[in-house]
Formats: sequence, structure tokens, C-alpha cells
Amino acid sequence: MRPTYLEVNLSQLKQNLENIRAHVAPAKVLVVLKANAYGHGVDGVAPFIAPFADYIGVAIVEEGIHLRKMGIATPILVMGGTLREQLPDFFEYDLTLAASSLDLLTAADQLAESTRKRIKTHLKIDTGMERIGVREYEAEALIEKSLACSQFVEVEGIFTHFANSEILEPLESPSLLGADSKLSDSKVKASLQLERFQEVLYIYEKRSEPQPAIRHTANSGATLSLPESYYDMVRPGVLFYGVYPARDIEKTIEVKPVLTWKSKVVYSKVTLPGRGVSYGSLWHTEAESRIATVPCGYADGYFRRNTNQGRVIINGKSYPQVGRVCMDQFMVNAGEDDIKVGDEVTLMGNGIAPEELANWAGTNEYEVMTNISARVPRVFVGAVQ
Ligand SMILES: *Cc1c(COP(=O)(O)O)cnc(C)c1O
Repeated sequence: MRPTYLEVNLSQLKQNLENIRAHVAPAKVLVVLKANAYGHGVDGVAPFIAPFADYIGVAIVEEGIHLRKMGIATPILVMGGTLREQLPDFFEYDLTLAASSLDLLTAADQLAESTRKRIKTHLKIDTGMERIGVREYEAEALIEKSLACSQFVEVEGIFTHFANSEILEPLESPSLLGADSKLSDSKVKASLQLERFQEVLYIYEKRSEPQPAIRHTANSGATLSLPESYYDMVRPGVLFYGVYPARDIEKTIEVKPVLTWKSKVVYSKVTLPGRGVSYGSLWHTEAESRIATVPCGYADGYFRRNTNQGRVIINGKSYPQVGRVCMDQFMVNAGEDDIKVGDEVTLMGNGIAPEELANWAGTNEYEVMTNISARVPRVFVGAVQ
């Protein structure tokens, strides 16, 4: 196997889920497996975790199909936008549709009736993202339609998604917002989104109709900090993978990262003083230094933006990444230490938090994890059931 690989600790992953479940009970837990299980490798994560999940969430229909082809039988909600021509796949693979417009729900109903096939759907209400979904002030028509659908359409759920759940109120910190602090006034608070969602639920009451059985709003941020958002189910993504969605959020649920990104020194040489290292010679040795080469680069998802920012651990010691990160390799300055070919290198985990990698590259942990490319094998450990 390739010396550069990602170790995924499945028992810690299960522990994270158990801790979340204990905190939100009796609410159900939808486990978010989109984007290759946030980069963890859905082929290993899904079969292991599916038996413990009430629902699975993916972003696109292809991810749902992939899970069904693997034999996953848990209900799967395709949370993202869907084109009308993708609807037949929902019937064929028993995927739950996020009904994000009146047109889409109408098309699904027509297809269900004409083919006499069943489909499950969750109505998608947009309370402040301006992404997909029907706004709370225009939701009545969608609900009316959902109540009038044929017997083949089961309106099982209704949901919304927060734009700012991870930011603690009051939302006044200008540093979070970049240059324009006036933006803070226009930020939609999770509590306001919740009120808008609640308005939509009142429509059912006014009509003496029961609300859909599964009402859900909470992503990781809300799962941690907004218990009134739980309703019948929560949808924690990054939190399930052991990462907190924001630096200053209260850690009301204990989780730990499950990834360790490892490699091995593939070359080790002593470089003369004053020599430039890597493309562009952006870093020079000051003294005679041991330069170790790690067979991992930006094509593996180790950001080029980490150049002269990153650090790794070799033989229990931290060393700086130096010179331009290349497509397939990067270099480390080991100074006077004796680093040998074959020595293990830790790129993430064991003392290097995903947060650190995010800081080096000026991004967030979500992108760090989902960016680790398919060229990096995933090795699953700790699968004790
Ligand atoms: C990705 C996603 C989530 C999970 O978000 P986290 O911030 O990772 O918890 C929840 N709901 C929807 C609709 C999503 O697209």
C-alpha cells in the first residue's frame, strides 16, 4: 500500500455518534455522509455506521445511489438541490427527496402517480440561507400541495438549514465578518430562523393538519448550542467526525477527531547552507540542514497554501514544512536531527489538530477534510461492534 494514507478510527466515530445521541435524545440522529463522509471514506464509514443511524444525509443523488449499491438500507435524505430529470433515481433507489420547490414536488407527485411508485419527501424551507428551499413567507402553497399529493407521495419530514448556527449570540464580533462590520446587523440569527420555521409549522395547526413526523433543523452548531432546534431529529456533520464547527463554541458534547494522516519519509539529505528548497526557492537553508521529503502534495489534498506554514511530526518531534508544497511531495526541515528514509510522518492527528491545518491554509476544517483526495488510501481501524 501507498505509504501516505489516512487512518480512520471507527470506534471513535461510533463514540462521537453515541455522545451526540445521548445529548439530543429523544431526537433522532441523521448521520451526514456527504462528500465521501467528509473525506473519511464513505465505503468504510457507511457500512459500519449505518446500523446506528436513524437517517443518512447526502448532498447529491449520486451519493445516495452509491450507498444503496453498497447495500445500505437506512433511510437516505438527499439534502441538496435536485433537477426534475433526476427524479426517477429517487424512486428506483428509494431515496428521500428534499422538496425544495413547488415545481419539484409537483413533478415528483406526477411521476409517482403515473408510475404508481412510492416516494418519500421532506419539505425544504428556506428561513435564511437563500440557497435552496421555499421561503417561510411563501411556504403555504408548498404545504397545500404536499397535503394534496397522491397516496404515492409520503411527506415524511420538513426542514430548514441555519446560516449562522455556529456563531454565538450576540452576533456583534466584527472580526468574524471581515472588513465590513455593518454586515453584523444583517446576519440572520439562528433563533430568528427558528422563529420563521415555527411560523411554517403553524400553517399546519391553522389547517388542523398534523405536522410532518420528522421536523429537523439542527446542524452541528445548533446541536451543540440550541436545544430548542432539535425537534424530531438533528443533522450533525462535522461534529460527528469529531470536529467542532467553530473555535469559540461551547463544547456541550464531547467528540474527538478520528483521522490520522500518515506518511513516510521517502528521501532524506543534508543540504548546504544557503540552498533554496522547492519551486520558486521560497525558503533557504541557513545552516547545513537535513531536509526530508514526504511523498504527499497538493494533489493529495495537502494544500499548496501550507507552503512554509505547516508542520509535521516525525519520531515524536515537530518539524516545519519548508519550501513550496509540490503536487506530489513536500519537504521538511529536520535541522540537525537524523531523519531516515522510512521514518513515519504524521501530517494530521496525534497532536496536529485539523484546526491547525485549516489555519495554515486560511480555510476551515471542513475543507481540510473533504479535500483529502481519492489518491490517499483510507485505512479503517477499531471497528469493534
Ligand atoms: C452539510 C449539511 C449539514 C451538516 O452540517 P455541519 O455543519 O457539518 O453539521 C446539515 N444539514 C444540511 C442540509 C447540510 O447540507
